[in-house]
Amino acid sequence: MKPCGLLRNADKIYRSLCHGDLGMAFAATRLGSTMPDLTAVRYKVKRGPFGEVTGTHVKFFEQLLGHNRVITDPNECDSYNVDWIKMVRGSSRLVLKPSSTEEVSEILKYCNDNNLAVCPQSGNTGLVGGSVPVFDEIVLSMKMMNKIISTDELSGALVCEAGCILQVLENHVEQYGLMMPLDLGAKGSCLIGGNISTNAGGQRLLRYGNLHGSVLGLEAVTANGRVIDSISTLKKDNTGYHLKNLFIGSEGTLGVVTKVAIQCPTRPLAQNVAFVGLNSFDKVLKTFVLAKKKLAEILSACEMIDSWSLGISTDLLHLKSPLSQDHKFYMLIETSGSNQRHDEEKLTSFVETALSEELIEDGTLSGDPTKIKKIWEIRERLGEGCLLDGYCFKYDVSLPLPHFYKLIEALHERLDTSRVVRISGFGHLGDGNLHVVVATPKYDPEIESQLEPFLFEYVSEQRGSVSAEHGIGFKKTKYLSYSKNASAIHLMKEIKNLMDPRGILNPYKVLV
Ligand SMILES: Cc1cc2nc3c(=O)[nH]c(=O)nc-3n(C[C@H](O)[C@H](O)[C@H](O)COP(=O)(O)OP(=O)(O)OC[C@H]3O[C@@H](n4cnc5c(N)ncnc54)[C@H](O)[C@@H]3O)c2cc1C
Repeated sequence: MKPCGLLRNADKIYRSLCHGDLGMAFAATRLGSTMPDLTAVRYKVKRGPFGEVTGTHVKFFEQLLGHNRVITDPNECDSYNVDWIKMVRGSSRLVLKPSSTEEVSEILKYCNDNNLAVCPQSGNTGLVGGSVPVFDEIVLSMKMMNKIISTDELSGALVCEAGCILQVLENHVEQYGLMMPLDLGAKGSCLIGGNISTNAGGQRLLRYGNLHGSVLGLEAVTANGRVIDSISTLKKDNTGYHLKNLFIGSEGTLGVVTKVAIQCPTRPLAQNVAFVGLNSFDKVLKTFVLAKKKLAEILSACEMIDSWSLGISTDLLHLKSPLSQDHKFYMLIETSGSNQRHDEEKLTSFVETALSEELIEDGTLSGDPTKIKKIWEIRERLGEGCLLDGYCFKYDVSLPLPHFYKLIEALHERLDTSRVVRISGFGHLGDGNLHVVVATPKYDPEIESQLEPFLFEYVSEQRGSVSAEHGIGFKKTKYLSYSKNASAIHLMKEIKNLMDPRGILNPYKVLV
């Protein structure tokens, strides 16, 4: 399909864009830099009063799962001990791979009875240190629970086990004319149970809302091994407490999600993308308002990338940008609808208006799926690319839009730039969600102390959230109170005590 309303010679530019699968690309190129220090040492954490794994325990698990699904080899265990961003490292010597809810239940009952701590792990793409042990917690890997149970074309309800890869589910539901209601850069590796446990957001949240709405029901196992079957596929069901919400976003601290029922929207027949360059953040905001007005019901994503972030894609990942690198800001605006021509016309008219009102300096449009994929790659691979600078301090905050980019400006003022490779901001502008990246050649505690707690105080003063979508995990526990008041934290602790009185589920995470 030809690019429409082109403001530059995009066809020529597109042909020179490199090829590769977006979602899978990042999994394949996961970066092999040096191992981080042990979390317990770097962050001076005290081990909780849990039992240590013995030969007797290992024997029990081998009888339950067989030898192949009980990993004790230290080298093999290592990849389960280090997080994706290489920020934290645990020292677990036991990884268990259940393949059914019954096995998860048996494992948790045994661990609870024997006071053994457990760290649930899915794709291990989490960015707040929640998915790996802090000490020697047993890793409960969910990767083998990957069966798709049913797909209802009529209602769009998909039921599957928690260990299904998001990209695999996306490919599966596509055959039914459906799509997954969430999409993120890590889709080739993250698992749906991990997505639910972090209440993952991503690019489609603007259009399809967060997982509290899309998840129809789920099955989870609590610390004592009890299976909570709440796997309804009904869209409306107000019979008592909405227990699914206890598990959505609780980061493995209240139970292990084993099955999921999720509402998949109809796959749009038409998709178009505009990539535009702008010279001020004020114009970014005005362009967003214009996009909401002019694109209305077909607007499906609105992402912002600053020039420092674009440099990650062009200079570090060697992706070709369809626009020159002269602009201070870039926006990726996507539409999803049912009529390609109609949507193209709307998007073209939006870009032309933005140009004539001098909001944008340049732009390019496409309705071609291959080209759309290439443009998305520039945005989606930022999380992966920033690791190439060396060590990466990453933050994920919600801010009221007038303050959205002021935080990045404040960091440019505050940080000792002689020690920093890059300070950049990008994110889901349409949801008020900014990703902050500060890269240093290697882990630099001095820069960390300039960043924290300053950054969280700044966010709190603007009444933002210290975690928009990545969660609290291990890294943000100290800052939970910056976004949740004491009464809410008190109730969270009471719920935790009720559901996991011995505290075996993901200790040192979320609540400390
Ligand atoms: C390149 C890249 C891009 C990303 N983009 C986004 C984005 O746009 N939006 C976004 O929200 N996040 C994003 N993330 C963060 C991450 O991918 C998400 O948090 C994702 O939902 C984690 O899924 P996972 O399967 O990797 O879970 P893991 O990382 O393995 O686990 C995450 C947390 O959930 C717990 N957990 C995992 N599985 C279960 C289970 N079955 N039951 C109970 N607890 C469980 C773990 O203990 C841990 O606390 C990105 C990450 C990367 C690397």
